[in-house]
Amino acid sequence: MDTPRESFHMTPDEFRTHGRAVVDWVADYLENIAQHPVASRVAPGETRAMLPENAPEHGEPFEAMLADLDRVILPGITHWQSPGWFGYFPCNGSGPAILGDLVSTGLGVQGMLWATSPAATELETHVLDWLVDLLALPETFRGNGVIQDSASSATLCALLAARERAGAPYGTLTGYTSTQAHSSVEKGWKIAGLDPANLRQVPVDEAYALRPGALADLLAADAKAGLTPAFVVATAGTTSSNAMDPIGATAAAAHAHGAWLHVDAAMSGTAAVCPEYRWIHDGLAEADSYCFNPHKWMWTSFDCDAFYVRDRAALTTALSVVPEYLRNAATESGAVIDYRDWQIPLGRRFRALKLWFVLRHYGAEGLRHHVREHVALAQELAAWVDKDERLVLSTPPPLNLVCFRHAEGDGATQRLLDDLNATGEVYLTHTRLDGDLTIRVSVGATQTRREHVERLRDLVDRHA
Ligand SMILES: *Cc1c(COP(=O)(O)O)cnc(C)c1O
Repeated sequence: MDTPRESFHMTPDEFRTHGRAVVDWVADYLENIAQHPVASRVAPGETRAMLPENAPEHGEPFEAMLADLDRVILPGITHWQSPGWFGYFPCNGSGPAILGDLVSTGLGVQGMLWATSPAATELETHVLDWLVDLLALPETFRGNGVIQDSASSATLCALLAARERAGAPYGTLTGYTSTQAHSSVEKGWKIAGLDPANLRQVPVDEAYALRPGALADLLAADAKAGLTPAFVVATAGTTSSNAMDPIGATAAAAHAHGAWLHVDAAMSGTAAVCPEYRWIHDGLAEADSYCFNPHKWMWTSFDCDAFYVRDRAALTTALSVVPEYLRNAATESGAVIDYRDWQIPLGRRFRALKLWFVLRHYGAEGLRHHVREHVALAQELAAWVDKDERLVLSTPPPLNLVCFRHAEGDGATQRLLDDLNATGEVYLTHTRLDGDLTIRVSVGATQTRREHVERLRDLVDRHA
């Protein structure tokens, strides 16, 4: 009989060997990514059908896992990092971000309290202050930033803070956001246990931006009816069309009724690294909270949402619960931040590392360079669409999202979209604007360069 094994763990030397192979695998993947059709073509159930019924009884060699990445996993991957990725929004990553995440996993720390890894908390606060400078965010946000997993979580946390600050029965609270706001606002409202009938949809103008006058009317009517306006969300860069809500006027309307203003710049906030795009944040100094996603357009691999509050006590009052087993001297001293009080879960990953690596690798100069490149390419594409009689540009693109439709209507637009995606060279998604089916071209993948946007333009020209 074999002697029983004492350990099944991977040894440090095995980890070195396999780790190098994995880094090579990822590097090869990213280098050759354009060879794959951008959107996965597997049918439902196809991936599972390639997997064994049961987990293995005996451990397998690492090489077998790597081989199955190519055989089983890659066919079922939609390649968000492809240069032909123009769907939804960018979710761009980068070498420094991937490596920062690897280090984070290697350290394996839980940053729920300052005391559970002081560097995790302090680096996070510090790099979020760097972003205050890089994006010229309001000074009220300095020292008051936290990384959330997603903009959805940031909006929910802002809503919970607003709900508690309002101090009225939940059934009487009202919320406001434009008809173009992201679905996460409605989802947060549901999760917060508020009355779905009390979330108002504010009409938008011809550029799909919130009308502050209409907001003021809704607020006044609700206040008059004895309800309590509690929460307003303005969007800097809506998902459908990249519309920019007027933040200052929205803040004035919200604050006239004591409501909290949250600004959601998930997709577009990164643009403010360039001084010429900082107008998207005009009025932000009046906001109670703000978020944007470095994991969308700032080369920081998912997940990383930067969330800021003006008054951190409003947030921690809503979210802090201190059981005996988490009591510690640093917390009692009041001299430290415990980020578990700034988010929904208790545990948290060391996500600041990848953001730190990104900011140091690119420098502000590198971020500006690539943002400007994407915006310029999108603007050129929009100008071309605008001149083509077969196509209708839906709205002048403020930044890097181009929306257009076929002049012959929804049927022709759908056919064009299907034809473009069938090439496998590009991937685009759709929305509806004023009822019209609309193709969205979101320019922002790390590898997307001029040649890829020109190729897309040629494909549109051929299939229009
Ligand atoms: C992408 C996006 C969201 C959702 O972001 P998650 O981080 O996936 O929750 C919310 N709002 C806007 C404006 C977005 O572009």
